[in-house]
Amino acid sequence: VTSRGRRVVQRLDELGVAAFLVTTPLNVRYLVGFASSNAALLVTGERLTLFTDGRYIEAARRVDGLDVVLIDRGLAADLGERLAHHTDGPVAFEAARMTVADHRRVEASGLELVPTEREIEGLRAVKDMAELAAIRRSATLLSEGFEQFAAADLVGQSELAASRILDNTLAGLGADGLAFDTIVAAGPNAALPHHHPTDRVIEPDELLLVDAGCIVGDYASDCTRTFATGTLPARLEDAYVACLAIQTAALTEVMAGAEGKALDDQHRDRLRAAGYEPLHSLGHGVGLEVHESPRLARTVDDVLDVGAVVTVEPGVYLPGVGGIRIEDLVVVTEDGPEILTPVPKELRQVV
Ligand code: ZN
Ligand code: ZN
Repeated sequence: VTSRGRRVVQRLDELGVAAFLVTTPLNVRYLVGFASSNAALLVTGERLTLFTDGRYIEAARRVDGLDVVLIDRGLAADLGERLAHHTDGPVAFEAARMTVADHRRVEASGLELVPTEREIEGLRAVKDMAELAAIRRSATLLSEGFEQFAAADLVGQSELAASRILDNTLAGLGADGLAFDTIVAAGPNAALPHHHPTDRVIEPDELLLVDAGCIVGDYASDCTRTFATGTLPARLEDAYVACLAIQTAALTEVMAGAEGKALDDQHRDRLRAAGYEPLHSLGHGVGLEVHESPRLARTVDDVLDVGAVVTVEPGVYLPGVGGIRIEDLVVVTEDGPEILTPVPKELRQVV
């Protein structure tokens, strides 16, 4: 059993189960280092058994410490019967991942299934040294990408062309890929938090919001900066100053023991006090996925642990006019955040 697998074994008693069935591909990859689109990992006190189909079987057999079982491509068709050979149950499963149809098929084997949510995601929230090293590399590369982007000729280009400049810069710096589709939003488009780049041309004297992330060594990074393409109306300059003050204040509260919900609430209060409407939560965990636990959101009960990696990204949006978001990626420590995205945050002019 791998060290990550052992952390699942430790949860079996608390969940009152004999085994844990992991069917989320990224969670399987996290636990045993095996990447596929179709695998189920059964964790019992004694062993790790991986069920996968013929496309992945050779790769699975090369992973140390795994018992590997070949199954048909329709994972759940005979999974119940097969599981019954390895455990008497009850078996915890990932309720957010299994379809009702698959659940019915597995249960038909007579095994008792116990739904769980965000169990492996909870383990993934705290990064080990190797993961932190990969995320630091990813964020350092991304930060360099933002610097090169800010020095490029942007005014007169379309949002799409500008997004390709950043994407190509990241590839040239050695990123393995993008963590998500790069957002470049100019002028009024910056008021839309998840705008997709269009052929809208970047004009002088407006805001330019850029939100991007890359993948290095399997790990994502995420950063947003908002630039000015010249002189801004006072209203937008004030909004920028307010957003930066709120981001800076939120950062000072990111430390071990802090509740994601409380941090989000405080940032919403600050936005309202400054006269702006909050449109999204304060931040999210980043790791194998660009959005993962812990969440800095009022909808969940996540507590920040040392070694968690989260974004802090308040936004101020003025419909029809423009928008500002400032996002840093940080590691949670005992007494504050270690910032991984040292891209300057004072309002910067690009040309
Ligand atoms: Zn982002
Ligand atoms: Zn983000």
